[in-house]
Amino acid sequence: MPNATAEGAADPRREERAPTGRPDLLGLAPGELETALARHFGALGEPAYRTAQVRRWIYGPEAASFDRMDNLPAAVRTGLGRAFRLATLSPRSVSRSRDGTAKHLWALRDGELVESVLIPEGRRLTLCLSSQAGCALGCTFCATGWAGFSRQLGPGEIAGQFRAARAWALANGYGRITHVVYMGMGEPLANRAALNTSLTVLNGGFGIGARRITVSTVGIVPGIRELSERPEQFGLALSLHAPLPELRARLIPLEKRYPLPEVIAAVRDYRARKRRRVTFEYTMIRGVNDDPSLVPELARLAREAGAFVNLIPFNPIPDREWVASRPSTVERFRTSLRASGIEAAVRRPRGRDIDAACGQLRATAVAGPAGAGTPERGCRSGGPRLSGSAARTGPSEPRG
Ligand code: SAH
Ligand code: SF4
Repeated sequence: MPNATAEGAADPRREERAPTGRPDLLGLAPGELETALARHFGALGEPAYRTAQVRRWIYGPEAASFDRMDNLPAAVRTGLGRAFRLATLSPRSVSRSRDGTAKHLWALRDGELVESVLIPEGRRLTLCLSSQAGCALGCTFCATGWAGFSRQLGPGEIAGQFRAARAWALANGYGRITHVVYMGMGEPLANRAALNTSLTVLNGGFGIGARRITVSTVGIVPGIRELSERPEQFGLALSLHAPLPELRARLIPLEKRYPLPEVIAAVRDYRARKRRRVTFEYTMIRGVNDDPSLVPELARLAREAGAFVNLIPFNPIPDREWVASRPSTVERFRTSLRASGIEAAVRRPRGRDIDAACGQLRATAVAGPAGAGTPERGCRSGGPRLSGSAARTGPSEPRG
């Protein structure tokens, strides 16, 4: 069992270090990036417009490295390379599903592996990002939780997944990424400094609207409150999975640290402050959390928090006997919730043929062929909502 209590939040030993001390331009908020570039070019006596040129190369869709910034003189490119880094992730593998879902396994500079998943749904293209290498929170139904925590991702490594996946999507006929969900490996609110910067980079740099970016959390109360302090209307998804504290504690060790009433209060306040509906994620495990008697309490919490409920069939993981709830049970949950006035949908798994959910590819690559049966988790259908009747059996989506 992995470390079940530590959030892995501010463990300074576990941050990726830049051995050169050169700042990663992708890890800077756009304003900081401009300041750093302006200072750099100012010191070299270069014209001020160089800053705007480089900014375009960073957030625009083309340059993979400083060398490719071909409207800059060679000496300027060399100078940039000496002063800065540009975290470019290289794909260890990419798998494409018959349903169009595409999953990348990215190798980071120190050899750590993280995953991101592209999920096309009609005109929407959602990217599911990882926020940590592994996770320290040890949820008992989650393959990443069982595998434990490796290290925090830096903001440039999170934004770098976007940049690299975007380049791949454009080159492979997927078009532009329209939505981003932090539903890959890791707990984003346990890596708040990097999360915050990466949100600013995605929103202010790459131009993804805040309402098209969703952060998924298992319920880190101070993190939810901190996120609600930001001016932007980012979406929030709470991985709830059980409406009763004792049952939730069996699935999510963090319940002991942040009890359900506190979590729901934080989510309710988030909703009130942002005037944006939140989402409950509810992974349905047969005989564990799918008893119909739970529906009234689930409905009560959803009402209190102003939440839309996503019902997700459980994906079996090794060393656990658990299996997914029967489709009829899931459907019954959905209809009962709706009869109680709560909007709910059933998320259909995406990319099954490529094991598309986050955690699996990394587990396979780390464990070798023996890990090939490691099941999927996360990102099964493109995030909390998420859109598109094609993606699920439920009819509606959360709106603000
Ligand atoms: N740590 C964050 C974000 C990553 S997990 C969180 O927990 O919200 C992304 C989603 O995948 C969560 O809703 C999580 O509960 C779900 N998940 C994890 N393991 C799963 C499994 N075996 N079957 C179904 N969903 C799973
Ligand atoms: Fe971590 Fe989320 Fe998995 Fe829980 S469900 S172990 S918080 S990644």
